[in-house]
Amino acid sequence: MKVVGGEWSNWSGGVHCKPKTIVVPKDEVELAAAVRGAQGTVRVPGSGHSFTPVCASDGMLIDLDAFRGLKSIDTQTATATLGAATKLWQIGPILHAAGFGFKNMGDIDRQALAGVVNTGTHGTGPNLGNFSSEVAGFRLVMANGDVVNCTPSENTELFEAGRCGLGMLGVMSEINMKVRPAYKLKEQNYLKAPDELFAELDHLINSNRHFEFFWFPYSDRCICKALNETDDPAPAPRTAEEMYARGEKSGGETRLFEGINEILPYAPFLLKFAHGLFSQFMPGPAKVRWSHEIFPSPRTTRFNEMEYAVPAEKGPDCIREIVEMIRKRRINTGFPIEYRTVAGDDVWMSPFQGRASATIAVHQYFRVDTYKLFDACETIFKSYEGRPHWGKRHTLDATRAEQVYPQFGRFRELRRKVDTKGTFLNPHLRAIFA
Ligand SMILES: Cc1cc2nc3c(=O)[nH]c(=O)nc-3n(C[C@H](O)[C@H](O)[C@H](O)COP(=O)(O)OP(=O)(O)OC[C@H]3O[C@@H](n4cnc5c(N)ncnc54)[C@H](O)[C@@H]3O)c2cc1C
Repeated sequence: MKVVGGEWSNWSGGVHCKPKTIVVPKDEVELAAAVRGAQGTVRVPGSGHSFTPVCASDGMLIDLDAFRGLKSIDTQTATATLGAATKLWQIGPILHAAGFGFKNMGDIDRQALAGVVNTGTHGTGPNLGNFSSEVAGFRLVMANGDVVNCTPSENTELFEAGRCGLGMLGVMSEINMKVRPAYKLKEQNYLKAPDELFAELDHLINSNRHFEFFWFPYSDRCICKALNETDDPAPAPRTAEEMYARGEKSGGETRLFEGINEILPYAPFLLKFAHGLFSQFMPGPAKVRWSHEIFPSPRTTRFNEMEYAVPAEKGPDCIREIVEMIRKRRINTGFPIEYRTVAGDDVWMSPFQGRASATIAVHQYFRVDTYKLFDACETIFKSYEGRPHWGKRHTLDATRAEQVYPQFGRFRELRRKVDTKGTFLNPHLRAIFA
């Protein structure tokens, strides 16, 4: 957990808090005692990679560092039980050694398992759900200190809601995840003109296991990325330590990208040139790796991000409207827009609940004010029935949440029932969920 001089901050540096106490329980008994005895707000950060203040607390922060590692693997049901704070970069090698892997992952592997589960973190693939939808069960330490098992048949409501609960229903100590036999993926990257891409988009999405594209809005080329299963040979898998080191590595291209992002706010005349240049050097060569090694990429340049999920069929219109708006208003940004697809699920507060979706993400360099870009994009996202990613910037309030999340009322009621004093609510969450 990143704490300097008593102050905790998130990955992008945009969220800070000064908790009165930081508790580091060594087991579930100590964790339950800490929660039961807590005065004021209790929050549990994962790796602090959310851009929203979901982890902030001026009361207690709980550091679950001791809750890492594999507990068991059930090869019959293809599920693995892991400590809730195990980092994704640790999980890949652990599962691989047992002959398994996750069905899908997002862009990075820095997060804690409970962190990705609690915000509905996702990768891309029209038939693949987010992390929350891959949860088979979990153990939850509730506000009163009780510890319960949550599965489809035990404490069913807590299971259904808690899979994407932003840590508001309790603290997960361990999580049972669905897994599949280990597999390799081949990555292919290429550029396409937007008109050509949109003409083929449905086909590209449906004919690849994973397809996504990035669009620097002032560029006339989109960067396409496809991943498909293969039996081709792959390099020997890395250890967890090597996976960690790889994710923190930044090369010459990253430094150039960062350098240009430092200059761009003062040199808007460079936008078109910079976006053309970034689009040229971003597509890497084709490669084959084990799945857990190919999904994540190093992301060392700090930024802030907003992402909304819109109904899948509305995605192409939505991203085109966003690019058109950015160009028309000459909004200054050095980052691409990312377009992905996610299968619908049944998790109450998942952005993908009940509908197959396209996700559209906009980013801004961490030193650049986000308001101009994010406000304008959010207006467009709302007009497409967008639902925000809970870990990424948004201004959703309770009224809007009720309109776009069909299970919002049920979630609020359950939250109130299991945490009567609002122990797990901070001001950000209280404004939406209390
Ligand atoms: C560089 C970067 C790349 C990203 N890429 C993607 C991507 O590809 N796809 C995507 O969907 N998102 C992506 N994200 C967003 C990120 O995956 C989510 O914000 C995720 O929640 C971060 O995980 P974390 O472990 O840092 O959790 P945190 O941000 O620390 O916490 C998230 C939530 O989980 C809760 N939580 C943590 N541990 C527990 C626990 N034990 N019990 C109960 N609640 C708990 C916290 O209280 C909080 O509400 C990215 C973020 C960054 C910074």
